[in-house]
Amino acid sequence: MSDPAKSGSISPVFKYVALPTHVVFGHGTVALARAEMDRLGRRRALVLTTRQQESEGRQLSEILGDYFVASFCDATMHTPTEVTELALSLMKSCKADCLVSVGGGSTIGLSKALALRSGIDQICVPTTYAGSEMTPILGETNGTTKTTLRSAEVLPEVVIYDVQLTMRLPASVSAASGMNAIAHAAEALYARDGNPIVSIIAEEAIGGLATALPLVVADISNVDARATALKSAWLAGMCLGSVGMSIHHKLCHVLGGSFGLPHAETHAILLPHSIAYNKGAAPEAMSRISRALGGKHPAQGLFDLLTHLGLPAALSQIGLKAENIDQAAKLALDKPYWNPRPVEYDGVRDLIAQAYAGLSPLQQANR
Ligand code: NAD
Repeated sequence: MSDPAKSGSISPVFKYVALPTHVVFGHGTVALARAEMDRLGRRRALVLTTRQQESEGRQLSEILGDYFVASFCDATMHTPTEVTELALSLMKSCKADCLVSVGGGSTIGLSKALALRSGIDQICVPTTYAGSEMTPILGETNGTTKTTLRSAEVLPEVVIYDVQLTMRLPASVSAASGMNAIAHAAEALYARDGNPIVSIIAEEAIGGLATALPLVVADISNVDARATALKSAWLAGMCLGSVGMSIHHKLCHVLGGSFGLPHAETHAILLPHSIAYNKGAAPEAMSRISRALGGKHPAQGLFDLLTHLGLPAALSQIGLKAENIDQAAKLALDKPYWNPRPVEYDGVRDLIAQAYAGLSPLQQANR
């Protein structure tokens, strides 16, 4: 009898690869950064921040004590390579053996870009809900060209989640960043390489964020809601790191990369329309999204969450021009990501046009 494994006739129902990042979660946990450097056997930390978060960088340098060697405070959205080169030369001149970044996806992106070029260890302390810290993905820009790569080299060795460091994140940034996290989990539910573990994690992430974000926006100092949002963002980041994304993430890359739209807000506005686009093609994912939203219609429920959070609902409000819609649809069809519903020009153009106008998915369906 022929061996089916050898004959290639067996294909798995799913595959799952666990990512090895060491995660520390809690309140005041940034104080453990030095202990984490000890665990890694590192002694010379370069601290990374944005200009807006220099004070968090100073707090970190005090915690690190004599392990702190320098700081670089110019992390920039979309990881421009010229900024990375500046940080790289500082990293070399101060002989750092570890990066400790505190901030959102922009700061963590810089850390990853440096790790890609040098193999240096990374400790990330995320302060938004974007989820980059849990992924082996790096997006970089060189001039106006954005490229994205996936490599184990860029996955951080350690992630320290400290709820206290998220308390200052403004309501509107929290809301948009939280919707960005929901987008990772939602698209993971219909990923071609999805699996049962990721689906459970994704549903939990969506439910946690949908519950916590309205509470965070109502009172940014609500510690319990902040903890739920951060824990759920961790889970959503795991989804993004584990499986491939589809039309929604492709469109966000196009709109951010080619038209300069802000990252998190673009995710937030597009998400209900992307889910509506895929609704008929991914019934199980839709049931899970609906269940996570307390039984609501998946696309309309996300739209209602968006408006409840006080976020802009139309791409026209965040800088897209009507004359860009055709071009954006064409770019989305250039090297499209796998998607449960075929990616076709007319449908994608409609999706963008609906998001441009800010009409709710149910209004659209009834027109
Ligand atoms: P961001 O990192 O650009 O942060 C936005 C602003 O908020 C910054 O000025 C930052 O300093 C400030 N900020 C962050 N946390 C704060 C806090 N707790 N209190 C006060 N201010 C705070 O925004 P983001 O949405 O986290 O990240 C967006 C970037 O991350 C994009 O470039 C995106 O492409 C990238 N990203 C990458 C991945 C990946 O897996 N590679 C995943 C998600 C996002």
